[in-house]
Amino acid sequence: VVANWKMYPQTLRAAKELVSATKRALTKVAGVKVVVVPPSTFLREVSKGVKNAKVSYGAQHAHFERVGAFTGEVSMQQMRDVGAAYVLVGHSERRAMGESNEETNKQVVAALGAGLKPILCVGEWDRDEDGEYLEGFARQVREGLANVPKNKLKNIIIAYEPVWAIGGEKAPEPHVVHEMVLYIHKILMEPFGKAALTIPVLYGGSVNEESARVMIDEGAVQGLLVGHVSIDAKRFAALLKSLK
Ligand code: PEP
Repeated sequence: VVANWKMYPQTLRAAKELVSATKRALTKVAGVKVVVVPPSTFLREVSKGVKNAKVSYGAQHAHFERVGAFTGEVSMQQMRDVGAAYVLVGHSERRAMGESNEETNKQVVAALGAGLKPILCVGEWDRDEDGEYLEGFARQVREGLANVPKNKLKNIIIAYEPVWAIGGEKAPEPHVVHEMVLYIHKILMEPFGKAALTIPVLYGGSVNEESARVMIDEGAVQGLLVGHVSIDAKRFAALLKSLK
């Protein structure tokens, strides 16, 4: 379960409390791992200390260049240095700021080079009855993973996040998600063959304590990407508990 905190909370103190609450909740839940993805300023502090096999950390974004004159940016290597093991790539909130498939691809390649596991977020903005959205979706998937050597696939995670479902309380029906998981694997069989089927797909978009379990059971996903519910300690604990 990936907890995308977005630009919350406001203080390091609150961030530490949230991580502690997540760890406490996980003591009662077997078989679930959480990746906490906080704002980058909190990463070093929240990730240090006793290693916890159930909790790891990720960055919300990093630049694809290793070093250089990129004011305001942080590199993959720098994120790794402050405790990240994962990095979100191509989240719709970043695509909305202009991030292209070409850039997400460069970030995927750079993340792998820096020893981070990229979580490539893909999803259509909306749907039309003729299914034209599928073409743009397929390009996000295909172009996002271009130039990735087959032997690196084990370090790749895909998150299916339909943009129309993000930020609310109603996730799509699990069968809709299941279809997209099949489609993602089908798209990736062209460049990668059967190895494509081993890439884990997560679902993200309005997952809450009610929908989490059924999404795992019936949506054919191997995990969840949770936004606003992950910054509410009580609700996130209930969500984790529901997966036990
Ligand atoms: C997200 O931002 O990736 C997300 C899934 O958000 P939410 O859970 O709030 O829909």
